[in-house]
Amino acid sequence: MRAKSDTYLHKGMRQKMVDGIRERGITDEQVLTALLNVPRHFFLDSAFEKQAYEERAFLIGEDQTISHPYTVAYQTQLLQVKPFDKILEVGTGSAYQACVLGELKAKVFTIERQKKLFDVNKSFEYLKSFPFIRTFYGDGFEGLPTYAPFDKILITAAAPFVPDKLLNQMKPGSIMVLPLNEGENQRMIRITKSQDGTIQEERFEEFSFVPMLIGKKE
Ligand code: SAM
Repeated sequence: MRAKSDTYLHKGMRQKMVDGIRERGITDEQVLTALLNVPRHFFLDSAFEKQAYEERAFLIGEDQTISHPYTVAYQTQLLQVKPFDKILEVGTGSAYQACVLGELKAKVFTIERQKKLFDVNKSFEYLKSFPFIRTFYGDGFEGLPTYAPFDKILITAAAPFVPDKLLNQMKPGSIMVLPLNEGENQRMIRITKSQDGTIQEERFEEFSFVPMLIGKKE
């Protein structure tokens, strides 16, 4: 069962978590405020309530994880979110990242390939407090052609390559952030599509993610 109350104790732990993320070099105050506002312990089983604000990933079922808080902050900062941006997220997982984007007033379209994780989020009360977050059960390699194009695309699983279909669903002037396989780990990549459709790629730090897998899982 997930916790539902957010106390001063939780807020204090959250402040400490954000202080640690700031010390590691995240400078975007809006991203830091979003992390301060989203109760991370709501996304985990209540057994982990006390550990929810530690700098670590946790299992959320189906062998999947909620990313480290620093990783969420890092990807969100690279995405340069603006209010009302239309964002496609691949890998809903616990929906923590989606809610951080929701706190930044983005319109979020998030896809999960694991039916069980998708179903958990359908009855997640806190997620319902974000009317502009929509969840989908599907394969992120396909994107969401019905809702494309997007201002931003964020992949939160280790991509074996840059999916062509997602490149096609980027607006001119848009950004995609993804962890791209490079040996054992992944290199964080930011792709920018210019107004004339050309692609520019920037490379950042290494991270370790669960794999982005092809197809849906019942
Ligand atoms: N964003 C998540 C959160 O805030 O909890 C963490 C994401 S977890 C590290 C990666 C997620 O990507 C898993 O839930 C996994 O099932 C999902 N995933 C992997 N391949 C996928 C695909 N092709 N399409 C959609 N989701 C995928």
